[in-house]
Amino acid sequence: MICIENVEHLDGKVTTLQVASSDEIMIDGAGLIAIPALIDPHVHFRVPGLEHKETWHSAAQAALKGGITTVFDMPNTLPACVTQPRICEKKKIIDTQLKEIDLPLRYHLYLGADKHHFQEIERSAQDVIGLKVFMGSTTGDLIMDDDSSLHAAFSLASAHNLVLAVHAEDEALITERKARYLDLKPHVHSQIRNWEVAYRATSKALELAKIYKTRLYLLHIGTRQELELIKQAKQDGIDVFAETTPHHLLLSEEDYKIWGTKVQVNPPLRSKEDNDALFAAIEDGIIDTIGSDHAPHTLEEKHKPYGQAPSGIPSIELMLPLLLSTNRISLTKLVELMRSNIEKIFRLAPNDDIVLINKEKIQTIEDSNLITKCGWSPYSGRTLKGFPAITIMRGKIYDFR
Ligand SMILES: [Zn+2]
Repeated sequence: MICIENVEHLDGKVTTLQVASSDEIMIDGAGLIAIPALIDPHVHFRVPGLEHKETWHSAAQAALKGGITTVFDMPNTLPACVTQPRICEKKKIIDTQLKEIDLPLRYHLYLGADKHHFQEIERSAQDVIGLKVFMGSTTGDLIMDDDSSLHAAFSLASAHNLVLAVHAEDEALITERKARYLDLKPHVHSQIRNWEVAYRATSKALELAKIYKTRLYLLHIGTRQELELIKQAKQDGIDVFAETTPHHLLLSEEDYKIWGTKVQVNPPLRSKEDNDALFAAIEDGIIDTIGSDHAPHTLEEKHKPYGQAPSGIPSIELMLPLLLSTNRISLTKLVELMRSNIEKIFRLAPNDDIVLINKEKIQTIEDSNLITKCGWSPYSGRTLKGFPAITIMRGKIYDFR
């Protein structure tokens, strides 16, 4: 039994908290707040095939430091995770890596929707957390931008009771707009992949979800125009849930001036007005979850000029401190967005992992202190307040004080 004395709960009460464990340990919880451990429903831990960017050795430790004990990993690896045998192989590699560091992070995998492997949806349905559809291109070559394939994916996900998670950007419009921009500086990324690119694909996804009664999870929503669509879809009774990310809340197009291609991400950064609309949508229940979309690339890759640099921003270990430091979302709301809503949407089995947070801890982020293998962050230099102090997973203590 782990016994945490004098610990504060979300309702403000200070009591003793007990967590089942084979160890007999007493922790003085004075000054700490206990919350259920968090779930990150959107990570790219890059295994297999892209281990120079990240591995589960580094990423699992980064997750725990961030108060996260469950992650959902995306399929755009090398090879892409698009068949049942590849799901099995990937699980074996992950389990080996987690065993090597003795850190049994909880995880689920997405199956990548691939027009050449539709039969794999039924084969893998029991082994995955959902079906991921890339309507727009990003890291890797998984893309589904033709109508008949999209109809098939939405229909099959519904038939096999799978959540369909979509990267909603319209590939045809991206291609068309790309040809208009000749001065390829990083900031044009947001102009090429403008709000309309996202809006068109999100509209289509909602339409298909309505036709096939698919449980739809819209990944990394970033524009105010999409929020209007989602609000209406929810009112119309469509089974839809929306995620946003720390970078769509906290960074904007103005950050290209400072960070260049380091903040190039898909879907791209938007305006400060969109940042504000997302915070409001969280309060209004239009946004249901926050996922890190932790997508590490090496500095060498990110330092390439626009057009050659890959898209993606790492953030898993900083997500909670970043969001706490905004003072714009209460801790109770964060627990809904980063735990209980995700449990409900994906129908997860409950667990009693917890995180003890030191709300008063102040620290300036530096690349040299990061655990992620890529070793950099666009949040470096920011001074944040409120950090996970201890994460308890499967009855084991991970102390980050
Ligand atoms: Zn992603």
